[in-house]
Amino acid sequence: MLIIFDLDDTLIDTTGFITPFKMKECLKTLISQGLKVSDFDRSYADLLELNAKSSGSREALVQFLKSAKDSYHLIEPALQEMTTPLPAGFTIPTTPNAKEILKFLSKSHSIALVTAGHPPFQMEKLEKAGIDRTIFSKIAIPENSIKKPFYEGLIREFSLSADQVLVCGDRIATDLVPAYELGFTTVHMRWGRGTTFKTEEWINHTISDLSELKRIIKT
Ligand SMILES: [Mg+2]
Repeated sequence: MLIIFDLDDTLIDTTGFITPFKMKECLKTLISQGLKVSDFDRSYADLLELNAKSSGSREALVQFLKSAKDSYHLIEPALQEMTTPLPAGFTIPTTPNAKEILKFLSKSHSIALVTAGHPPFQMEKLEKAGIDRTIFSKIAIPENSIKKPFYEGLIREFSLSADQVLVCGDRIATDLVPAYELGFTTVHMRWGRGTTFKTEEWINHTISDLSELKRIIKT
């Protein structure tokens, strides 16, 4: 079987550890470039609150800058800050049991990673979470968040039928809809933003701990 994982909020705790750090760095950058804030902590809290309500950090920053007077031109430096390298000592926690489960599954299955984002930053996150990249037979990083062509490429490359592929991710639209369209088994990881999504009846399994994959893949 081929098991395709998403990275952010599936294997690593992006929402809990990276997003709050990056949002604070972003706010500092915005201030250094001219954004006026009267109370840093207050603005930071506002930004986090917007982020919790948004579909992604990009949308949160757009809303935040639209609500600040004459500041929307700062969107580009703000977005750039979100993917600049993390500090040297920064470590990223995985979601519970992620490394153990990857190791366990890799004994009898092929594992791939399809993660959306800025490729150098995605690879840095893997490294800072201490996930050995060689455990994946294939790593694909679509910058535009469109995963379907990569899923199709994997099924061709591994010469598999759709029922031999499982996709596990936290984002229904990005990770699971294209998998469902291709006839793959879908596993919704409820973590980070994924905890707020309403489930869909076509999703095969819903989990909040990757250990549950042991049971799912056995059956
Ligand atoms: Mg994700």
